[in-house]
Parts: sequence; C-alpha cells; structure tokens
Amino acid sequence: MTKKFTHCGICLAACGLELEVEQNRIVSLRSDSEHPLTRGFVCAKGLAGLEMTTDPLRVLHPYERIGSEWRRIAWDEANEKISQRLREIISKHGPQSVAMYYGAGNPTSSINYMMADGFVRALGSDRMYNVLTLEFTNRYLVMEKMYGRQFFVTQPDIENTHCLLIFGSNPMVSIDHPGIIASLKALKERGGKLIVVDPRRTETARMADIHARIIPGTDLFMLEAMYSRIFAHKLHNSPFLEKNCSGHEFFEKRTWPVTLDDAERICGVPAKLIARITEEFTRAKSACAVAKLGINTSSNGTLTYWLVEALNAITGNVDRPGGLIFNPGILDLNLLSRMAAGRKQRKSRVGGFPYLTGSYPASVLPAEILSDAPDRIRALIVDAGDPSLVFPNSQKFEKAAKRLELIVSIDMYMNETAQVSHFVLPAANFFEKDDLYVTFPDHFAQKFAQWSHKVVEPPDEARAEWEIFRDLSRRIGVPILNQWPLDIMFRIGELAGKTMGQPKKFAFNPKNYYKMLLGMMGKVKFSELMSNPHGVSAGSIKFGAALRKLATRSRKIELAPADFVREIEKIALPPNTPPDLPFTLITGERSPHTKNTNLRGLKSLTSRQSENFARINPNDAASQSIRDGDTIEISTSSGALRIKAKVDDTMRGGVVSIGHGWGRKLAHPESRDMTAEHGVNVNLLTDDSRLDALTGMPVYNSIPCSILKCDK
Ligand code: SF4
Repeated sequence: MTKKFTHCGICLAACGLELEVEQNRIVSLRSDSEHPLTRGFVCAKGLAGLEMTTDPLRVLHPYERIGSEWRRIAWDEANEKISQRLREIISKHGPQSVAMYYGAGNPTSSINYMMADGFVRALGSDRMYNVLTLEFTNRYLVMEKMYGRQFFVTQPDIENTHCLLIFGSNPMVSIDHPGIIASLKALKERGGKLIVVDPRRTETARMADIHARIIPGTDLFMLEAMYSRIFAHKLHNSPFLEKNCSGHEFFEKRTWPVTLDDAERICGVPAKLIARITEEFTRAKSACAVAKLGINTSSNGTLTYWLVEALNAITGNVDRPGGLIFNPGILDLNLLSRMAAGRKQRKSRVGGFPYLTGSYPASVLPAEILSDAPDRIRALIVDAGDPSLVFPNSQKFEKAAKRLELIVSIDMYMNETAQVSHFVLPAANFFEKDDLYVTFPDHFAQKFAQWSHKVVEPPDEARAEWEIFRDLSRRIGVPILNQWPLDIMFRIGELAGKTMGQPKKFAFNPKNYYKMLLGMMGKVKFSELMSNPHGVSAGSIKFGAALRKLATRSRKIELAPADFVREIEKIALPPNTPPDLPFTLITGERSPHTKNTNLRGLKSLTSRQSENFARINPNDAASQSIRDGDTIEISTSSGALRIKAKVDDTMRGGVVSIGHGWGRKLAHPESRDMTAEHGVNVNLLTDDSRLDALTGMPVYNSIPCSILKCDK
C-alpha cells in the first residue's frame, strides 16, 4: 500500500487529499491535514471522488453511434474517422465551421483546457466557447476595463478584513476558495462584520451580522442607492481616488437616480438597512465587497458586478490588507492567453458580443449553429461539458444538435449531449492524469501551486484529454497547442528518447510541458513541485505592488469605463412583473451534494439528495394550499416543468429557487438497464434571448414565472 498526496479536482478549491493506493486501485481517500491551504478539509463531494473512479456508469471505451445504436471501436479507428470527418467539413465549409465547447467537468485541469483551445485554433478556427461565458465572463470584462487585463483578477482578503460584503453567493456551500469556511468563521470570531445580500437565508446568510433579503435582479438599484448615500454623506476615500483612480468624477458628480426609499420599493430591502450596510462598509477599518454567480447571472450582471467592484476602490479598499487583493499566480495568464488567442478584437456574429477568456459567449452557440451563414458551425467538439443541460433554453441546443454533421463528446459519462453525439471518447478523471492547476489563482490567498499527481492508471481504454488532443492533432497534421516549434521540439525529444530506450523521457506530456513553461516564466520551480507533495508557496501577496502594475491607459484604476457608463445610463427601473408570471425564479442555488451537472450518479451523494426541488416561501405555498412534497408546475415565457415543492421559510416571498444541473439522464452505451436520472432540468425554463448586453451571458436568475399546484 502506498500513500500519495494530490488535490481534489471537482471544484476550484482544490482541497488537499491523502490517498492509499494498492495495485493501481485507490483504497482510501481522506483530507490532507498537512495541506497549507485546506488544512484537513474535504467536503462530501471530494470524499465521493473515490466512488467516481469505479462508477459502473463510466464510459471506458471509444464509441461510435450508428443510428440509435452504439458500437465500441478502437482508438485508432475513432481517431481516423473523426479526423476524416473534420478534414471533409473544413475543406467544404472552411475552418470556422468547427467549434469547441469546453465545460466545467475538469475545472482544475489546466493542460486539458490549453490542449482543447490549441486544437481548435490549429485547425484554423477561433470558435471556442467555454463554460466561463455562462457564469463568470462579466468579471473578466470588468477586470480588463478597470485594471487593464482580463486575468488581473481581484479577490477578497478575508483573512484580514474587518467587513466582508457578499452579493449573490453562498460560500459556506459553494466553497469557492480553499479554506473559506474556516476563514469566514475566523472573521466572525475576531469581531469582523459579515453582510450578505441574497434572496434566501442561505447557510452563509445565517451566520451574517446583516442579511438583506433582496428581490432577485435588483442589486444594481440597491448599489445605486448606496452610492447616492456615500456621496451625499462624503463616505468615499478622496485621497485614494485622487491618487489611484481615474474616472472617479463620474461617481462623484453623477446624480444617482435611486434613493434609499426608491431602493426599498424596488429591491424589497428596508431603506434603513441599506443605509446601515453603507455605513458599516464605508466606516470599517478595512472592507471588501464581492459579487458572485447570483449577480453574474442576473439582470444587468456586468453593470452590477462593476458597481460592486468599484465600491472597493471608492472606499480605498483595493490592494491593501483586508480589501481586494490581486494574486498573479505562478504563470502569467494574460501572456499565455494572448499567445493562444492573439490580440485581435473579436465579436460574436450573433449578438456582436466580445471575445472574453478566449471564448465567444456559449449562450449564442445554438444560434450560430442554426444560422444560415455559409460557414456556420457544422462540427462541435464537447470537452467535459453537457450543453444539452446547462445552456439556457435547452430546447434550442437540442434543435441545433440535430443540425450538426459531427459532434464528438470527450467525457467520463454518456451524458445528455454525449447521447446525441456521433462519437464518445472516454476521459480519465483527475486521479488518472498528471496536471498543474494554474488557471484560477484568484481562488488562492497566496501564490500557491500543487502538482496534481496521476495516482492510478486510467481504467480500460480511458485516456487523459491531452493525449486525445495530441493524437487527433497528429492524425490531422496540425501542431499540438497550435505551436509548430513546440511540437517539433517534442517530436525530436520523442525520437531521442526512443533511441535511448526511454520513450517518455522527452516526449510531450504534462510533466515535460510544465517543466518547460515554469522554466520560462514560472514563479515556482518544477523540481519544487515534485519534491513538495502538499504544494509550494511562491510567497505571500505584497500589498501595493499591483496598483503600480496596472495595465490601463491611465496606469490607474479606470473607475468609469465608457461602455459601462453608456449602458448604465440606459437602465430604467426594473420592468413591471407580467401579471401572469408574478413570481421570480432563481436557478443558481448550490448544493453540498452536487457540482453543476457532475456527480449525479454517485450513490454516496444521491443517497443524501436524489433530486432537485422548488423552494418556495410558506406564505406563497399557503396561497395555493401547496404542502411540502406536492408536485407543482413552474412556467416561464420559455417553458414549463413539474417539480416537487419544498416549503421553506428561508426563501423570500415571491421567489422560487430551483437548483440547476439536474435532470441528467446518464446512460451506458452497452447496457440499456444501466441508466440514472435525477431531478428535472431547470434550463427548460430559462431564455436564450435574454442576455447581458455587455457580455452575452445568460440570465439564470431573476426570471418571471408562475406556480400552479398540480392535481397529481
Ligand atoms: S470543496 Fe471542492 S475541491 Fe474541496 S473537496 Fe469539495 S469538491 Fe473537492
């Protein structure tokens, strides 16, 4: 039995794990008590990772769909057929007819993302669509506009702050930073203030000093009221603004159109409470305000995110202890992104939305497939994702999928998208491949990296995605990572290794690739990563350093980007609720037992939560004599579905919450008896035409809906 250390790859917290391995089998899994960031923490999902490796529903061989039947094929045949189809489509319709959708199934696998991105670009296409554009790209746009670079991302310094103001997030459950539960508890213990703005009394809101139970989609108006109060009472930090910011005059001189009383009416939060939140935040010795998914995917997501981010600068809380901090990570992501996607400014054909994080907005992908353009998308590669279930208005993707000439799914499971694909290629999980998680340093409170070790070989014919893209690239005759010099260098290395009897020594693989990359631009050494199984710190964050490195034209924080200012001036009050859709639906609720569309079939998790449900307030339930467990019908302008009601006084009245990612039907290509289905797909209710004006991100929260009790 061998003891091995690695990290969990299910979510971005990347908690440290200790494993015992015997004969290529993981026999035990527990938290790594020596991990410097997660310090012995592991959640229920992480513990289920063990089950994931042996899940009987896993796809373990390549398959081709012939009509409605699946045929097991050899890797060689799969690669040849896929390459042939891609070549034919490209020669007939041009390279832009090939697209890639990259999902959230592999969030810490940075090399997978780089290889997928490089593969589609090497084919001559820039049609990359990633899952960030469904959840986060407004944040990267705000970073670019305010600080000059998309990957110049801020995060709250919870360890040191006196006041943390959270909009639209439940970190006690979403655990989006390693060690965040301990950090929040420590904040409370040292007498710091925790303020939560959320329509539900979430697990985080329950421990907050102040909870504003806001009407979903109205946060922008509450922030406007806060700004009007700040400037009326001179609560801003003038010296900081003068020294470090440009565009602060917009904030200072603007006639903020929403008063506290207006906000009470619009947002459903008492005027006195908004005033108190404003006072607590602005008068705290240090403070940080953050917005997350509940804001990003709500009405006016980008503008709201901007106003939250700007609140930190307005009060002088950027790049200082207890405020917002910048973690540059161990690699220069801005440089890597420019090397991959170039500097060209691109706009999506449908909607004219910007190219962010190297991707067009995924919300318009179905429309791009359904368009009449001669080089419309005809081939789609789906890597670690399930667009059938996660795109807004699932019906539209289903229709688009039927029009595609080729869909290739690279996944561990025969998920809903894989079931309509032409080929399914079996992917290894994070225990079965080497990798280095470098893509989201803003989730770590320090410059930190830990090698993700391959602790067991992939079962049967499953393969790491980097190998799949390497083989497809070579079969088609394009360079890996879209870089011929790099590809040629590794090919020579491969030949040299073979003559030495050590074929892997200099071949392309994650270890050799990262060794080279870290050698060129890394802040930690590859050898340090190899000799420190619990991870390596590249030093704590130096406060004040980031403000000197801003990449904006003024070299200061640009507080009032012109397109944001233009857009906010267009925003009128929220539209009146349609009389036939009097409730508001939110779909971003996190569960401790699920991760988006992933982990649905694992028994240790489904035994704790086997389906999603509609949370409704007791008064709303009573108005229709709905009892806990009754089936209700929820309708929106896009569709209707039936779901069990959960009568729950944590909900704000008038709001319904349904968790997303459910309704996944897992099948097995060789056994019709082996299927798993849990809950309902809430994206039957979301609308692909209601998009954020600045980014094209969908609105998954704040959707008008109706509730009807069903007879049966
Ligand atoms: S919080 Fe995320 S990374 Fe940590 S154990 Fe749970 S799923 Fe894994």
